[in-house]
Amino acid sequence: MIKELQVALQIEDPLNEDSLKQYAAKALKIDVSKIDNAKIIKKSVDARQKIPKVNLTILIYDNSEKIEERKSLKFEDVSDSKPIHIIGAGPAGLFAAIRLIEKGLKPIIFERGKDVSNRKIDIANIYKNKEVDPESNYCFGEGGAGAFSDGKLYTRSNKRGDINYILSNLVDNGADENILYESHAHIGSDKLPTIIKSIREKIIEAGGEIHFESKLDDLFIEAERIIAISINKTRIPIDKLILATGHSANDVYYLLEKHKIQFEAKPLAIGVRVEHLQEYINDVRYHGNYNPQYLEPATYSLVEQVDNRAVFSFCMCPGGSIIPSLTETDQLVVNGMSNSKRNGEYANSGIVVSVNLDDIQSYIEKYGQMGMLLFRDKIEQTFREHANNNLIAPAQNIKDFVYKKKSTKLYDNSYIPGVISLDFNELLPEFITNALREGLKLFNAKFNGFIEEGIIIGAETRTSSPIRINRDNDTFQHVQINNLYPCGEGAGYAGGITSSAIDGVNCANKISLKETIS
Ligand SMILES: Cc1cc2nc3c(=O)[nH]c(=O)nc-3n(C[C@H](O)[C@H](O)[C@H](O)COP(=O)(O)OP(=O)(O)OC[C@H]3O[C@@H](n4cnc5c(N)ncnc54)[C@H](O)[C@@H]3O)c2cc1C
Repeated sequence: MIKELQVALQIEDPLNEDSLKQYAAKALKIDVSKIDNAKIIKKSVDARQKIPKVNLTILIYDNSEKIEERKSLKFEDVSDSKPIHIIGAGPAGLFAAIRLIEKGLKPIIFERGKDVSNRKIDIANIYKNKEVDPESNYCFGEGGAGAFSDGKLYTRSNKRGDINYILSNLVDNGADENILYESHAHIGSDKLPTIIKSIREKIIEAGGEIHFESKLDDLFIEAERIIAISINKTRIPIDKLILATGHSANDVYYLLEKHKIQFEAKPLAIGVRVEHLQEYINDVRYHGNYNPQYLEPATYSLVEQVDNRAVFSFCMCPGGSIIPSLTETDQLVVNGMSNSKRNGEYANSGIVVSVNLDDIQSYIEKYGQMGMLLFRDKIEQTFREHANNNLIAPAQNIKDFVYKKKSTKLYDNSYIPGVISLDFNELLPEFITNALREGLKLFNAKFNGFIEEGIIIGAETRTSSPIRINRDNDTFQHVQINNLYPCGEGAGYAGGITSSAIDGVNCANKISLKETIS
């Protein structure tokens, strides 16, 4: 007999296998000897009441059943198999490669940035040189945009694919097993690089290829097919191309435009990053009962509607820091990251406002499909110019933003390059600031002190892609160039590490199907 069971526990209750069997036996009113094995398949903390509780879903097996072991992937050698070219070694590109290998095809990845170890050096240099390297930074390089992040793995895109396949793969490559059952699983910046390196080693061991500092800079198209790509100005013939270049590679969108490859502008969300002391967030979320021995630093997820416009928190990083995540030297963009323990002093989160195409009509009329990208550019450049053209970021205490006055003394914060006091009401378009101010007031009504205690730093603009590269819903082939597979976040079909990885797997599945048929 295999049975699934829900139990609610105190946070201090032990979670070893013997205890799980005891909880199950008690709930089922049977003798504990009847239960051979028990394992957690879902774990969440319910902090709505004054005393937080742990909710578990447990799978139990009696003596007649064997516990089902998680199977690690085994790869056949694909070094002599048909090559499929991939641009970008982010979650989408890497997971497309893994699935192609499973399907007996040979992935060849070209990545503009460096391998994850050398990338770390360039990231350290951002703080030393006070500037980003446009080819190797928080967005570009092995592992893609999420390589130095909080590594949150939860996604709403359950229907799009097999999340467990992605999580199980991450565990095979060194992630903690708890990501398989934690409802809000995360990995952390300190652990992600080792996992990414292990994925690369497996791809190469199986006969796949990954080339770093190898940038796609042109395409050769004949009769609605890409017949070759140019990597660092060298022409390489290809049969099928997965384009998984993320949402920050503006030059790739210009390349598509140059070749009249169809894509469209898509809605985005833009705003600021807020930061509070983690202690304050713990206090509010756990009603003053935070116990670090048993509870993770608290998170939050906030959403409100202001005049039919969504204002919401995005990519919350408990115990984390705010980082400069720009990719070009005329931009200023921030994002957040945390280490696995999430034990830093501050908690940050994007607070963003949905921006629809009709909000930026003048951009769409003037620039068409590039309209949202250029609107995003304009905001990033405005922030850069106002902060004296370096990485020092505009900042404002939230209460001053809400009451429209410049802060005289900014709160301490985690953003290492430093901040300058500016009024965000003058930096962002009015339709964004109006919604942000009202949204923050509504958050404050539910989250006491949210306005009083926090600071905003900006701009937060890279919440998803400003563009969708149109593909067929069934085949995932581009609607016009039939050997092009737009993939992952930059193509407009995913948002976040897990959903981008899922999209990579799905693209590889479609290619494998096509190869089998033809
Ligand atoms: C600081 C930060 C923190 C984040 N935190 C989280 C989080 O906690 N959880 C979460 O789910 N998501 C997070 N995200 C978002 C997440 O990282 C992305 O959604 C995800 O990485 C998208 O995957 P992707 O493979 O589609 O694209 P990307 O990860 O952007 O990868 C694209 C790759 O393509 C390469 N590339 C671009 N142009 C070219 C070219 N011309 N030639 C060759 N290579 C090229 C880039 O260098 C890059 O490595 C974070 C993002 C950032 C920046």
